[in-house]
Amino acid sequence: MALRLYNTLSGKIEEFHPLDGNRVRMYACGPTVYDYGHIGNFRTFIAVDLLYRFLRQSGYDVRYVMNITDVDDKIILNSARDGVTVQQYTAKFTKAFLEDSATLSIEQPVLVRATEHINAMADFIAELAKKGFAYRTDDGSYYFRIAKFPEYGKLSKKDFAGMTDGARVDVDEYDKDNARDFALWKAPKPGEAWWDTSIGPGRPGWHIECSVMSMEQLGPSFDLHAGGEDLIFPHHENEIAQSEALSGKQFVRYWFHARFLLVEGQKMSKSLGNFFTIRDLVLRGHKPSSIRWLLTQVPYRNQLNFTFDGLKSAASSVEKLRNFRFRLTTTQFPTGANPAMTGLASETTARMKSALEDDLNTAEAQAAVFDMVRKSNAAQDSGGLRKDDVQPLLSALEKFDEVFGVLKDDDQPKMKAILDWARAVGRENDISPTLMELAGTAQLSDEQVNQKLAEMEAARKARNFKASDALRAELAAAGIIVENTKDGVRWRRK
Ligand code: AMP
Ligand code: ZN
Repeated sequence: MALRLYNTLSGKIEEFHPLDGNRVRMYACGPTVYDYGHIGNFRTFIAVDLLYRFLRQSGYDVRYVMNITDVDDKIILNSARDGVTVQQYTAKFTKAFLEDSATLSIEQPVLVRATEHINAMADFIAELAKKGFAYRTDDGSYYFRIAKFPEYGKLSKKDFAGMTDGARVDVDEYDKDNARDFALWKAPKPGEAWWDTSIGPGRPGWHIECSVMSMEQLGPSFDLHAGGEDLIFPHHENEIAQSEALSGKQFVRYWFHARFLLVEGQKMSKSLGNFFTIRDLVLRGHKPSSIRWLLTQVPYRNQLNFTFDGLKSAASSVEKLRNFRFRLTTTQFPTGANPAMTGLASETTARMKSALEDDLNTAEAQAAVFDMVRKSNAAQDSGGLRKDDVQPLLSALEKFDEVFGVLKDDDQPKMKAILDWARAVGRENDISPTLMELAGTAQLSDEQVNQKLAEMEAARKARNFKASDALRAELAAAGIIVENTKDGVRWRRK
């Protein structure tokens, strides 16, 4: 079976076949770096990360490009307000975005920055003007003439018949029902950043940035373009108009849009007090793996309602998976194989694959892996799991994790980094006791833990219980839980 994805352009679920054999070229609209990213932004970025990981797992050679919008209306406004250059203003938030992405185990795409492509944007606009798709106004701004592009509205399914030719809009974000010519290039305003280019001084509009960078990186026609659902209109509609007007070719074949995230049933907003960045949640003591898990639980086209109860149950789901692997890798099983268990492993892999091929049905893929965990735990308890079943079960789990990315137990150092950041920026008051407990203690490496366990064993064998108790207490203080089982001592992190 091939991967099937909902394509906003056709309004249908379609089989996904790239243009060029085994190569997939995809682009996602990245962050506008004017603030810390919130969980809504990361819902979209994680949805695209899952798609990217699954395409690679399916054997495709994927080139995945993401832009950093480091110049736009909001950035210009904020940097002028703070009296710093656009570059100074955005450097901080670009760094924060990359750190937060790594915290959530998002694999890094090829990154491109708008401010490094200003001349290419000016050239693109000059070309559009030459072809009659763009015009210059008296102040030196340029607009796209949508009356020249009759297919305008084909992505957002808006009918713009009877629009007024020449009516203009010059802000980047607008939700007008009647189409207007949108700004490609904005003439300098006092106190704002501007660049000197072949079409005169000024700065680009937001939409032209993505057309220029995606086509430069991926060619005039590529496979897939992604973003949150709010970008369908005007941003992506405008990208199509600009790009297809210039190249005369279809710009993108599959348009992938993630549905907006709600928080406790409401639209996220600062005034409602339900606006959370990744750092806010970690400061409250939530693990990055729980946040990632929660954001993957609901298929990308369904409404995801972010709740704190959901975050708690996400933590326990991740814990269950990690414990499952821990048990499999540390228990001594009787030799031989149980065909029911090897069968379970291959069925699970097949079920996960067909779930993800069904328009990335993450919920169904997760249900498949939990069925496997439940059945094989039951088999372990009744002695029905054998040594040769371990590897197939672990491989199924690894396949799952290649896409979902939560098994690696690295929450503690990630949380510690956010704790240090909070102290550095004066947010000590926001550090919760849970975060202190989980990340405040000195981190022991796996080798250090093993070393201390060996010392503890030696002390116990020498009947030096005082020393072995002291070592156990030291490990407990570092968040290491030591368990004595019939197969020997094992440990895990809290
Ligand atoms: P921005 O930084 O505002 O340009 O947005 C970056 C990405 O996050 C875009 O793809 C947006 O569509 C997406 N996004 C913004 N808010 C939400 C939300 N509440 N839920 C899901 N995606 C969002
Ligand atoms: Zn974009």
